[in-house]
Amino acid sequence: MKKYQSVRGMRDILPNESKAFRSLEDKLISSASQYGFQEIKTPILEDTNLFIKSIGGGTDIVEKEMYSFIDSKNNSISMRPEGTASCARALIENGLNDTINKIWYSGPFFRHERPQKGRYRQFHQFGIEFIGVENFEADFEIISLANNMWRNLNINPTLTINSIGDSDDRKKYINVLVEYLKKYENSFNENEKNKLKLNPLRILDTKNIKTLEILEQAPKISEYISKESKTHFENLLRLLGDNNIEYIKEEKLVRGLDYYNRTVFEYIDDSDNTQNTICAGGRYDFLFENLCDKKLPALGFAIGIERLIEYTKYEEKDDRIKSFYIITLSEKDHLYSLNIANLIRNISKKFIVSSSYSYKNIKSQLKKADKLSSDYCVIIGQEESKNNTCQIKNMNSGDQKNIGIDAIEQYIRNEICFKE
Ligand code: ATP
Ligand code: MG
Repeated sequence: MKKYQSVRGMRDILPNESKAFRSLEDKLISSASQYGFQEIKTPILEDTNLFIKSIGGGTDIVEKEMYSFIDSKNNSISMRPEGTASCARALIENGLNDTINKIWYSGPFFRHERPQKGRYRQFHQFGIEFIGVENFEADFEIISLANNMWRNLNINPTLTINSIGDSDDRKKYINVLVEYLKKYENSFNENEKNKLKLNPLRILDTKNIKTLEILEQAPKISEYISKESKTHFENLLRLLGDNNIEYIKEEKLVRGLDYYNRTVFEYIDDSDNTQNTICAGGRYDFLFENLCDKKLPALGFAIGIERLIEYTKYEEKDDRIKSFYIITLSEKDHLYSLNIANLIRNISKKFIVSSSYSYKNIKSQLKKADKLSSDYCVIIGQEESKNNTCQIKNMNSGDQKNIGIDAIEQYIRNEICFKE
């Protein structure tokens, strides 16, 4: 019979990982909420033109990574490759762009890329968008929010930051950059040659050592950005410094999406993972204008959840969570064992209680409990149910005690020194 497999690049997130996933997401939500951000959920599918108009036609995403299809009414529809364009569309469409200015989102995104560690075709992002504030203080606020998130997760990724100026500055810079790079076109690979035509800034992103050497002498974007952009950037860097937020100024950081201007930044993990950008963002003061003819400055960032999990090797660290496995040796004691299960669940929400329904020999049931990594087994045999007791076995130490039903709560509280 045909064995079905998940589509290439799309993964199942199994309970082990999903636990880490949810707990990590909860922490990100908690930081975002403390900074006044509210949740938005937008559809997976959008009009393809929304992404072309906002992300830009010459970008990797639009050029080759989108899952697009024509629906039965001949409309071109795409599965969202990122969240910012959809958020802007939703705020404009619902007339909320003046009233709601801080939002977060979390969910799956889709890009048809070559799957590898840290790079999937369905992946998850947690993102925030801050709309309506032009001042550099807003840039500072979202970077402090990101730092607050890292603190909550006990990690310390490196902030790299740059200013790419406004679109006129960039046009000027692109002209001189292309002029310079054209001299070396012959040593470029096909991909870079293509970028030189479609999106020359992206060449700055290269990992190709030969090209990196060529870039050493290339004109620098900082020499082409306007006075206003420069002041904005310098003020931001000063504020970061005043608040002891470390950063690395990276002239070659340009980001791949057309809608960015002025501040762009990334957080890089210090592991040797090749896909080590865990968060990326920046300002996009012209996106709203582009979509609705109304100028509205904005900025935001998106975190790649899979990469963050990989980086933090995040595990549920709440050691108050304990799991109990109830082993009943005779079917007729089922009700009695259910009562004990509920009694334990009622002691604390941190207790996870599951029951074995096999009524087989105790050895195989203890093995099962071990496989499930249970912390405790509660064993109910004929004697125990007759005497209103149970055996509680600590699976770590092997200690086992007979406890009367009325003493279970006290025993568990003492035994594991449980405090809410
Ligand atoms: P990269 O240069 O790694 O392709 P990007 O510039 O395309 O990244 P963004 O569009 O800025 O990425 O997305 C923000 C974050 O989402 C990235 O920093 C990364 O953590 C995560 N991300 C992007 N694409 C993928 C993917 N295909 N699989 C897993 N995570 C991803
Ligand atoms: Mg990419």
